[in-house]
Amino acid sequence: MGSWIEHAACRDADPELFFPIGAVPSPEQLKAARRVCAGCPVHGPCLRFAVESGQSGGIWAGTTERERRAMREEVLHGART
Ligand code: SF4
Repeated sequence: MGSWIEHAACRDADPELFFPIGAVPSPEQLKAARRVCAGCPVHGPCLRFAVESGQSGGIWAGTTERERRAMREEVLHGART
């Protein structure tokens, strides 16, 4: 994963906020997680890792699984053209 994780702003956050039990985070959970991510010093490496490794669960760098899948498809599609 890389040493960036040591600087993650979510290290001390409630895991339920970033990995909610339900398949899809509630709007309130997403908003709260995004507030933490907005001030995170390793937002870039986190997003890159989550998209490149195809993380399917949880909120990474303020993004949902659906958003990351769209980013991944965009990158893959862009690579083909
Ligand atoms: S961007 Fe968000 S999910 Fe990623 S390490 Fe930082 S706080 Fe955690």
